[in-house]
Amino acid sequence: MANRPASAPHAAVRPRTRTASGPLRRDPALRRAELLRSLRERDEDLALLAHLTAIGIKPLSRYERPLTDPLRSELVALGLSLGVCSRRTEAGGEVEETVFSRHSALIDVYRQAFDNGSLRLSPELGRLEGYLFGFPPCCVAAYFDRPYAPNSLSREDQATLFHWACDGCTITPFLLPRYREALAVVRGA
Ligand SMILES: [Zn+2]
Repeated sequence: MANRPASAPHAAVRPRTRTASGPLRRDPALRRAELLRSLRERDEDLALLAHLTAIGIKPLSRYERPLTDPLRSELVALGLSLGVCSRRTEAGGEVEETVFSRHSALIDVYRQAFDNGSLRLSPELGRLEGYLFGFPPCCVAAYFDRPYAPNSLSREDQATLFHWACDGCTITPFLLPRYREALAVVRGA
């Protein structure tokens, strides 16, 4: 390497000037923190969902409102694909949801199952939703059996999750440290 002449061909196509690099060339970890901070300033849950989805703990997440263009751009910059879905309320109204995932195929599955459908879930669609959201199947089944049945989690741990843990869950203890860590990343961003 020491013998490489200063005029090596690649030197011409990779200018070393920092002024030309722009924000997208910044350290990816710093850029991620910047994006998470911006999302958190709008909505901490949105930032946490985005981070959990971007790192792969949640295959897909839903934000139950439309998103502004800047927020959509920030999710895309985190590596997420976005989809919009319309749902019908019991009163006949319509609500627009935003779903995001690292995998556009999962967004297609969600939209196929839920777009233009009722907000009210059958147990069958609840199972599909839980699967896409990365919820333990035991917790989903227990929820449909008896919503919010007491469990042994601390209030703080339960509040960190997006699913209601079933009593004696054997999957949630593996997820909780990831959720706690993700929350710390979002709050520290
Ligand atoms: Zn469970």
